[in-house]
Amino acid sequence: MDLHSGLPFWIVKNELFNYYNPLSKNHKTEVAVIGSGITGALVAHELCKAGIKCSVFDKRTIATGSTAASSAQLQYEIDVPLCEMKKKVGEETAAKAYHASLQSIKDIEKVLKEANADAGFENVSSLWLASFKKDIKLLEREFEIRQKHGLPVEFLDDKKLKTQHKLNYPAALKNKEAAMMDTYSAATKLLKFHLDKKELELYSHTEILKWKEVKNGYELETHEGKKVQCKYVVIAAGFEAGQFLPRNLMKLISTYVLVSYPVAEKELWPERSLIWETNSPYVYMRTTSDNRMMIGGEDEDFRDPVRRDSLLREKIQKLEKKFNKIYPEIPFTTDMAWCGTFSSTEDGLPYIGTWPGKDRMFFALGYGGNGITFSMIAAQIIANKLSGKKDERAEIFKFDR
Ligand SMILES: Cc1cc2nc3c(=O)[nH]c(=O)nc-3n(C[C@H](O)[C@H](O)[C@H](O)COP(=O)(O)OP(=O)(O)OC[C@H]3O[C@@H](n4cnc5c(N)ncnc54)[C@H](O)[C@@H]3O)c2cc1C
Repeated sequence: MDLHSGLPFWIVKNELFNYYNPLSKNHKTEVAVIGSGITGALVAHELCKAGIKCSVFDKRTIATGSTAASSAQLQYEIDVPLCEMKKKVGEETAAKAYHASLQSIKDIEKVLKEANADAGFENVSSLWLASFKKDIKLLEREFEIRQKHGLPVEFLDDKKLKTQHKLNYPAALKNKEAAMMDTYSAATKLLKFHLDKKELELYSHTEILKWKEVKNGYELETHEGKKVQCKYVVIAAGFEAGQFLPRNLMKLISTYVLVSYPVAEKELWPERSLIWETNSPYVYMRTTSDNRMMIGGEDEDFRDPVRRDSLLREKIQKLEKKFNKIYPEIPFTTDMAWCGTFSSTEDGLPYIGTWPGKDRMFFALGYGGNGITFSMIAAQIIANKLSGKKDERAEIFKFDR
């Protein structure tokens, strides 16, 4: 699958993690992790921390799947608002999922510190704008339920939004618990940290094409016919994980991102907040550590990469126009643009854990706009399970929920 195209900023900004190490002979490990993106890297980190021997395999250059295309905003809010999610999964479960997301932002920061990985992690505020007056009611309901469950949230009316954030919108929900980072840098630095400590084996350009259950584990087979024996396998294959699943759970979507030239810091919007909105298709915005502005969204309900890419020019213009409407006084000149594929789920929650009846194959599928926070949760749930520790979050994200 063609996961992204155009010029993703992070691949240009970072030095390439120049690593070429295809598996050249049969291999044995305790846990085989398929995928070296942010999910595989976090899983590997948690396993190494727990003293569990693991090997990571990727068919591409390391971390150049969706991880390299991500806009990497870390928010506790999930695609489906809490006031809607409670109707799908029950209020208690929905609130627990939101709290798990909130905690995961702190945990990502902690993990990066543990691995001395400077990946541009920065705490910022987040604003969810009511795009139209009619959306104020949704924000009020959401504000009420988040407050009820002890989630950090503030309601800003139009006047507060104007004075505090220079925004002309009817209202917004604000919290100060969000963050942003460079996910490509995070994934590659985490993997390198454990490689250097010789706690991990990492194989690039190695596609896992076949797998079968054997006594006490799995036998995987690469595209070159090499065999991997393992006790457990973790599927961290992102939006390509469908090949390992007995049935389709993903709804693949095409999405677009632009990054501007850098501007003087004083020209950026107040607090460098993450900004997103109730409108559909929505736009979202963040800044980068070198004072660029990143704007994304304009999602399309299909995944066909040719059709997706053919829309890029038109989407650039639409996103630029939207930015100019939100902050007309800030100069935005597009430097790079790219398109990507991502996926959502019906209830907004990711799938984490084993498929019923297959106890040794774990899935870490952080589907949704908040995939990275889900990757953190998945890594902890799987490492806890393999270390024999109970993790109550497993119930929330399991397949048969
Ligand atoms: C444009 C865009 C913007 C986004 N913005 C945000 C955001 O602001 N905040 C947020 O939280 N999330 C965001 N996301 C989602 C987030 O980026 C993803 O959830 C996350 O990067 C997924 O990481 P991953 O490691 O699971 O997948 P990937 O990075 O795709 O890694 C999976 C890896 O598995 C490998 N693989 C697949 N199949 C095989 C196989 N058979 N054998 C060997 N290797 C295999 C692939 O080569 C790939 O490298 C965004 C996504 C996109 C595309």
